[in-house]
Amino acid sequence: MAGTAVVTGASSGIGEATARRLAKEGYDVVAVARRADRLSRLAEETGARTCRVDITDAESVRRFAAELDSCDVLVNNAGGAVGADTVAEAAAADWERMFSVNVLGTLRVTQALLPLLRAGGGGTVVTVTSTAAFTNYAGGGGYSAAKHAEHALSETLRVELCGEPVRVIEVAPGMVRTEEFALNRLRGDAERAAAVYEGVDRPLTADDVAECVALAVGLPQHVNIDQLVVRPLAQAAQHQLHRGPLFNG
Ligand code: NDP
Repeated sequence: MAGTAVVTGASSGIGEATARRLAKEGYDVVAVARRADRLSRLAEETGARTCRVDITDAESVRRFAAELDSCDVLVNNAGGAVGADTVAEAAAADWERMFSVNVLGTLRVTQALLPLLRAGGGGTVVTVTSTAAFTNYAGGGGYSAAKHAEHALSETLRVELCGEPVRVIEVAPGMVRTEEFALNRLRGDAERAAAVYEGVDRPLTADDVAECVALAVGLPQHVNIDQLVVRPLAQAAQHQLHRGPLFNG
């Protein structure tokens, strides 16, 4: 057994793909999210252990950590965007929700599991931020601000743990087509969610990002990828997205 890997946000998208991938690699996966039905299906299909945790709730995180006896890899993936409004018009409540899950949720889970990550003699913390963690775009103020903060958390933690055998890795994806991300962001508007990816030849998939996480985790323990930025070929930069075919045939 490769060790215990906790994956947050494992009920869908990148987290689910990462849980599946790490289970295949031989990890004892603990899949964390709020929706029990989706977690049960994952457990049946992969043998992963599951735990219903709301990472925005301190008590829920505390109870989860108290029941866990080991953690070698923590993948902080749970998160997302709420709304695509301008700074002039955004609701502060949406910004609060984004900070609550992406920043404070990641902080809580990391703090709670750090003793176990340290105890194992060689832990790894992977945090899935975004290319929005270092570039801003119109309508992305709250999400970018939260992801910038999540990036700051990850970088600060790496500096603070220097001298200890715990790796701190950030995976920052560009456009990933997952089932729920855009739908959640756009409050269930399926048409607008589909338009995000319209004409884009092969956005990243959840499996592509899971592959990157597995790659970073699978390197020898003395090799720390500080930040792995991954985009689809069609997206050369945050503001440079090609809509149309990339390859002939
Ligand atoms: P999804 O919306 O598909 O998945 C989000 C996951 O987070 C779900 O499993 C959800 O589970 C979980 N989650 C949300 N809130 C909480 C909470 N309070 N407590 C516990 N779990 C929670 O998103 P993606 O897979 O697309 O994104 C995953 C991560 O990657 C996010 O951090 C996102 O910001 C980032 N990202 C995504 C990109 C994209 O284009 N899709 C691009 C770059 C980064 P449940 O509802 O069951 O709790």
